[in-house]
Amino acid sequence: MGRITGPVCRLCRRDGLKLFLKGNRCDTPKCAFDRRPTPPGVVQKRRPKPTDYGLRLREKQKVKHYYGVLERQFRTYFNRAEKGSGNTGETLMSLLERRLDNVVHRIGFAASRAAARQMVAHGHITVNGRRVDVPSYLVRAGDLIRIKNRTKSLQLAHASLAEFRRDLPDFVSRSEDGVPEARVDRLPAPDDVSIPVQTNLIIELCSK
Ligand code: SF4
Repeated sequence: MGRITGPVCRLCRRDGLKLFLKGNRCDTPKCAFDRRPTPPGVVQKRRPKPTDYGLRLREKQKVKHYYGVLERQFRTYFNRAEKGSGNTGETLMSLLERRLDNVVHRIGFAASRAAARQMVAHGHITVNGRRVDVPSYLVRAGDLIRIKNRTKSLQLAHASLAEFRRDLPDFVSRSEDGVPEARVDRLPAPDDVSIPVQTNLIIELCSK
């Protein structure tokens, strides 16, 4: 078998689940994780059992890779979640799900979070009629996310929507009549997160 994985796919194999980092390729038989779900490495040796710290760290890294956030940003979300009155783990995941780049990807306007980040940063997205070019913008219930009504923006969104095969999350509704747009019906709940996450492990790690 030839080389089947690039640096991005190695993260999926290392974290042990599909993180959907490569757009539409993730839903095809070319997915490196589907082809070889074992951790990267030419020779698969028996790996030592991970320590408690290792397990917690892996859980945090998985979430960071999935949402494409760096350590400092992640800490900011965690601190905000910790200060809130609700469940820290649920609040943390809700904050990450509310990122505009995540929502733009999950409603199908961009094939991956990386593509969505670029789309937002390049000014292809409006929220409530105003251009928002900050990928970390946190959407609120009632927000209307719309593709900018110009040729290049529409082309990007239509190309992504034509290939999009995933389920729309329950917290948004989408319309493709005319200029594609989506409404945030409510804030994301734990069930809206599309990867399994043991937030208790992350809290144990980050609370120290
Ligand atoms: Fe690569 Fe996507 Fe498959 Fe992950 S899910 S291994 S990023 S193709």
